[in-house]
Amino acid sequence: MKVRVAVNGYGTIGKRVADAVRLQPDMELIGVSKTSPNYEAWSAVKKGIKLYVPESEAERFKQAGIPIAGTLEELFKQVDVIVDATPNGVGAEYKPKYVELKKKAIFQGGEKAEVAEVSFSALCNYDEALNKNYVRVVSCNTTGMLRILCTINSKAAPIVKARGVVIRRAADPKEVKRGPINSVVLDSVNVPSHHAKDVQTVFKGLDIITTAVVVPTTLMHVHSMNITLSSNVKREQVIDALKNTPRIVTVQSKKSGIASTAEAIEFARDLGRYRNDMPEVLVFEDSVYVNGNELFLIYAVHQESIVVPENIDAIRAVMGLASAEESIKITNATLQIMKGSLIE
Ligand code: NAD
Repeated sequence: MKVRVAVNGYGTIGKRVADAVRLQPDMELIGVSKTSPNYEAWSAVKKGIKLYVPESEAERFKQAGIPIAGTLEELFKQVDVIVDATPNGVGAEYKPKYVELKKKAIFQGGEKAEVAEVSFSALCNYDEALNKNYVRVVSCNTTGMLRILCTINSKAAPIVKARGVVIRRAADPKEVKRGPINSVVLDSVNVPSHHAKDVQTVFKGLDIITTAVVVPTTLMHVHSMNITLSSNVKREQVIDALKNTPRIVTVQSKKSGIASTAEAIEFARDLGRYRNDMPEVLVFEDSVYVNGNELFLIYAVHQESIVVPENIDAIRAVMGLASAEESIKITNATLQIMKGSLIE
């Protein structure tokens, strides 16, 4: 029996999760929801994905000539688990409905941590989400940070403290109305930025402080991280740990010519990767610098796709379908996720 999945909110994250669900041997995508009859609704129809809409919107879809399979409630009733990828805060509004229908739900990082029983990052705390009803996959920046921090902590040396600067992309490529287009903006005028607090929802008790600025680009986020370890480490040890961890790739900038987010995404395009996505964290290997027990590194995070594998693992965790190791292996294989060095 395959797990029956619904995706509520078919936008940047929802459509990628829907496509990923369709590639899983143990899952079936029953349908997705849309509230507005736009090109994204058409793209679902053209891909043969069943579309469900709020009852109040059915007439608008009919007028636009977009075929629908039923209402949101009809979709929810047919499934075992709902991946909620609606805009920030909207997932919390849906939660009472999921509770009423006794459906498990996976929320996204735009929701407050309290919406779920567990905040989730597959490499860090898969087991905490096993058989839970409500899980929140943390945001793109937090997912990127956690993959790096949990890997360093478990495979290089325990972390004493982490200090990071988050250089955030201003908007996703499709977002025509967001800015800035000519400024660097303080993401939060307060220090620490919220990213550190979000990391602590998974990596509990970690001493971490982040600051963040927003820059006019749509491609990827970049983090500059400084980690103090409990013992001295060698640079090679850190690079080995990163290279031997799934969902992290490293690239030597001088050797490959990839020293920017533009070149990284161009490489994804050249490889013909699905939607030009890069769901791995991309560590710029030349930036890895060790000074005794201090580690510095810079890495890039593709915001549109990094949380997709985590959503798939979260589904397996709440359904109790597989161990962390098994789930991560299936997800990585089906989504063709890379590890090790990007080039050689
Ligand atoms: P999005 O705006 O691209 O997509 C949201 C979708 O939900 C749209 O298709 C919209 O039509 C639909 N929607 C709006 N109101 C709805 C409602 N009441 N019921 C059902 N559907 C509704 O947003 P997104 O970027 O995919 O973000 C979704 C969630 O994922 C947010 O929590 C966000 O913080 C998180 N997230 C986003 C990114 C990113 O970079 N885009 C990365 C990681 C996590």
